[in-house]
Amino acid sequence: MIKGLYVHIPFCRNICGYCDFAKCRYEKNLADRYLLHLNREISEITQTNFDSIYIGGGTPTALSYEQLEELLQMLSRFKVEKEYTIEINPETFDMEKAELIKKYGVNRVSVGIQSFNEQLLAHMGRAHHNIDVHNTFRALDKVGISNRSIDLMYGFHNQTLGELLDDLNKAVRMNITHISIYALEVYPQTPFGMAGYQRVDDETDFLMYQTIIDFLNSHSFRQYETSNFALTTYQSEHNMLYWRYEDYLGVGLGASGKIRNLRYDNTRNFMDYIHDHYRKTEYKLTMKDQRFEAVMMNLRLLKGINIKEYDYRFETGLLALYHDAIEKNVNKGLLEIVDGYLRVTDKGLFVLNDILVDFMD
Ligand code: SF4
Repeated sequence: MIKGLYVHIPFCRNICGYCDFAKCRYEKNLADRYLLHLNREISEITQTNFDSIYIGGGTPTALSYEQLEELLQMLSRFKVEKEYTIEINPETFDMEKAELIKKYGVNRVSVGIQSFNEQLLAHMGRAHHNIDVHNTFRALDKVGISNRSIDLMYGFHNQTLGELLDDLNKAVRMNITHISIYALEVYPQTPFGMAGYQRVDDETDFLMYQTIIDFLNSHSFRQYETSNFALTTYQSEHNMLYWRYEDYLGVGLGASGKIRNLRYDNTRNFMDYIHDHYRKTEYKLTMKDQRFEAVMMNLRLLKGINIKEYDYRFETGLLALYHDAIEKNVNKGLLEIVDGYLRVTDKGLFVLNDILVDFMD
């Protein structure tokens, strides 16, 4: 059984300066057409049960109430065993939408806050204000959805360490179970990229990341992945599928999926999608690809790679297969083997990409 289904809704009320996701500005007619074709793609799925469904974007809540209900209705033919998440942007959410998602069984939300600093929000090109966050949480309180993740960002050139700490302080005082916090990446085709935006320097970046880890870990949000922190047992079920390198389906514009040794990517071209040419590429992963990708994803988890499981799953010996890369990075204090797991050390966490380069050789 494939455990997870990802559903992409590409519409946003405005476009943020750094955004590289498959998205476009919300227009009612376009969204109506999109949902029609999304329904066609979804109707090809034969499996009826999933452990998790994740509706992401874009901004799923940018849809009108009626469109959101249409989406939830089309997904209601699937039984969700564990976790049903929807991404929310505060400026597009209200009490009616809260009642609607509750009615259809959504039991987890991921709220795109990014910062509590209104000036920084404007700098990012975000559309919401703190009052919208307040109202969003009030609506969630009223309908009783208490499993809440928030997204934060850091690394903007005009953001100080003090401002970051202020964001973290405000975050941990909220009624939430999970925090995802991402470093700003500047992609060439985004408004920031085209304007030659410079993010913070490496030293500040390092300091900010260290501050985040120290602060959140000491406020009960335990880091379990490079960018993710959770209270006790509230790790994201759905995202764990990716990091454990398990199979998942993705539907919608720009979505991806992996089914055993097949990876596919949907088109990011809206016109292609609404002409039902949704599949852009399919790629057969070799055993070598899979072994490497599993390492790449598993090492993002602080727990690391379960060596026995890895060996059984990929019919190999991890420690022998990547002997040189492992030895080199263990000697540098970047990787360690503890209780049958190969994992990154505190120091290795900061240079995970460099470590992975050694595994590619
Ligand atoms: S709201 Fe999210 S998906 Fe939409 S433009 Fe901003 S970052 Fe991108």
